Amino acid sequence: MRNVALFGASGSIGRQTLDVVRRLGHRLVAISVHNNTEALAQIYREFKPKYVVITGKAKPPEGPKVLYGREGLVEVAKSDDVDTLVIATNGIVGVFPTIEALKEGKRVALANKETLVSFGPFVREVMPMGELIPVDSEHSSAFQLLQNLHRDEIKKLILTASGGPFRTWSKEDIAKAKPEDALRHPTWRMGRKITVDSATLMNKGLEVIEAHFLFDLPADRIDVRIHPQSAIHAMILLKDNSLKMHVSRPDMRIPIQYALTYPQREEIDVPPYDLGTFTLEMPDMERFPALALAYESLNRGGTYPTVLNAANEVAVFAFLDGKIPFYGITNIVRHIMEENPFSHETTFEGFLEADSWARRRARQLIEKEQIIP
Ligand code: NDP
Ligand code: MG
Repeated sequence: MRNVALFGASGSIGRQTLDVVRRLGHRLVAISVHNNTEALAQIYREFKPKYVVITGKAKPPEGPKVLYGREGLVEVAKSDDVDTLVIATNGIVGVFPTIEALKEGKRVALANKETLVSFGPFVREVMPMGELIPVDSEHSSAFQLLQNLHRDEIKKLILTASGGPFRTWSKEDIAKAKPEDALRHPTWRMGRKITVDSATLMNKGLEVIEAHFLFDLPADRIDVRIHPQSAIHAMILLKDNSLKMHVSRPDMRIPIQYALTYPQREEIDVPPYDLGTFTLEMPDMERFPALALAYESLNRGGTYPTVLNAANEVAVFAFLDGKIPFYGITNIVRHIMEENPFSHETTFEGFLEADSWARRRARQLIEKEQIIP
């Protein structure tokens, strides 16, 4: 039995993790929520975790030990009561408990890709001290496919993307897309931010960067294919030009459960994938420039992925608030990458500063309505 701390318990991944924890009979020792008081009360009533961390404005229930903010997450990560963390928060706050828990030799089931995208070099440094198990479905698949393979057997890692709601739309129509169009994801049910990232394909771009840091592969050995059925999550092209692929229904409970039970595998109440027609297409970087920007940030290295992620996050919420058009998101990201004054930073503090600068700069551009569309 694992003693689990679940950060971001009220979200889409959070609730599916609760499902898995409930079924596996693990102990939920700690949770975090940001603003959702109602969800917090409900989760607390059922699981009675010892610790509750509040990162935003939610009101705490009576009973648990209540901690606040980033310091609260770190205190729980270091606590002897916890051996496993599930990081399912939005934003970059997940990096702090992730690094501390790995340093203490604990298991971190990481859903929050922003942690690796923005602070990859620093997470890599402490990765060998603990167990970092990816929850993101493509990376969970890649992690499983890469087991028992030697590095020199691997030619390429190929991540798949559903293509999102605009896969078949013309560039002119995409330019006019409204938030409700972008939120209509064809295969996955997820939080709002990642759903918009799936519509721009920035999600896949962030995942290429995530894969680079997780598996230590250069950008030119990570490819993307559009696969509307979302059945194949990742493929490995092997030395002898054969392909290994990992297939399941698009249900996050499978990778969440695997991250908790690894190296064991357990039964789950998700039916097997009903094998049918699989199609694979090349991504169109013209209609979906976010993917090209993400590759570019990885090739430039240093704080470029950090700045890309920060600018994108601010721009996505501005799009959801109706303040900028759809292509305003990538225009802002491109502009901020060009300006990046932190290109030579190598320290953690420098990366944090680059993140804050990119957020401030994105807000400025949005307020002044510059470079949009
Ligand atoms: P949701 O928006 O559904 O949930 C986010 C969770 O994080 C909520 O518990 C929310 O609390 C909390 N939260 C929001 N903002 C902050 C903040 N600034 N600091 C700390 N906590 C915060 O998101 P998802 O569950 O969809 O995604 C969570 C993470 O997992 C993301 O990084 C995403 O990229 C990644 N991911 C998600 C997948 C999915 O299928 N959903 C697939 C692969 C990766 P509250 O409810 O109180 O606001
Ligand atoms: Mg994914």
